[in-house]
Amino acid sequence: MAQAQVVEKKQMRTPIESGCPDGMQFMHPLMVKNFGNWKYHDRPRPGVLHHVAYSGDEIWTVRVGTQRQLGPYEINLLCDIVDKYGEGHVRFTIRSNLEVMVSKWEKVGPLIQAFNDAGYPVGGTGNSVTMISHTQGWLHCDIPGTDASGVVKSLMDELYEEFIKEEMPNRVHITTSCCQINCGGQGDIAINIQHTKPPKINHDLVANVCERPSVVARCPVAAIRPAIVNGKPSLEVDEKKCICCGACYPPCPPMQINDPEHSKLAIWVGGKNSNARSKPMFQKLVAAGLPNNPPRWPEVAAVVKKILYTYKKDARDWERVGDWVERIGWPRFFELTGLPFTKFHIDNWRGARNSLNASAHIRF
Ligand code: SF4
Ligand code: SF4
Repeated sequence: MAQAQVVEKKQMRTPIESGCPDGMQFMHPLMVKNFGNWKYHDRPRPGVLHHVAYSGDEIWTVRVGTQRQLGPYEINLLCDIVDKYGEGHVRFTIRSNLEVMVSKWEKVGPLIQAFNDAGYPVGGTGNSVTMISHTQGWLHCDIPGTDASGVVKSLMDELYEEFIKEEMPNRVHITTSCCQINCGGQGDIAINIQHTKPPKINHDLVANVCERPSVVARCPVAAIRPAIVNGKPSLEVDEKKCICCGACYPPCPPMQINDPEHSKLAIWVGGKNSNARSKPMFQKLVAAGLPNNPPRWPEVAAVVKKILYTYKKDARDWERVGDWVERIGWPRFFELTGLPFTKFHIDNWRGARNSLNASAHIRF
């Protein structure tokens, strides 16, 4: 019996570990040595963090803005700079900043100069507009209605000065989302795709490509029904119910929601995850129906800049965008920014009471 158990144990198949590798192996040796034992940190200049450990060790971190979609040329260029002027250790932040750690203050200046000479700005710390967190866009994802990365690149080009300086009342986190239902996030200013027309269905493809019950179940307002069209199994949408969320498009690409004219961009304001000074907040819609206008999205950039510079001028020290709006009130926000307040800003949708899936079951 005991022998049988041993044999059974030997034959067990353990899963292959394919998650994130252990980060410790890639860390700067000083960070490994002082892990969890830091005494304090400060910022000697915008874009540079300085950490001091209880052991007396010191480390400087230089933060560099990148365009995120890095090709081999850019990666080699950045790595060459890190090898030559840094100490061979880098990490990426969730906002696509590159951080380079060095153990001597004397190395910081030449490192910054080398990045600047290569066209990469150093900044994004403290009360700056740090890199915009963005989603994949056309390059990687299968459902985007815009290229979030492109919106980011064109906006950061315009907000360059606010990245390299720390002159905002508090930090400003901008986010983007290239579909209406997934990545994105709460941001001081968020730029999100907004679909404005129900999906167009390619009935020839539905039966081959889509699992119809899953698509029907996916709709949050029960607007999709199975149907036979031209003798083939397909789907139909009750366009009066449809809220143009786009949730049916990922499981069923023949339900095309993206549209060059009717997929727009919307701007939301005042979200934050932090609970410093005030509670976390949800962002609110302030501008809708802006044209999805690549490659530079000038209409979106104009509205974001208008909001940002009004905040910079009017907010008190340490107020996040949401705190500022709470203090002055939404009517004053629209007055100061000059953005039009329309009936579309009023959240009076009551359809959920009748149609939203309100059961406790989680459905995919
Ligand atoms: S926001 Fe939507 S479209 Fe963009 S990367 Fe995420 S899932 Fe894809
Ligand atoms: S876009 Fe959204 S609301 Fe409209 S049919 Fe598709 S899932 Fe339903």
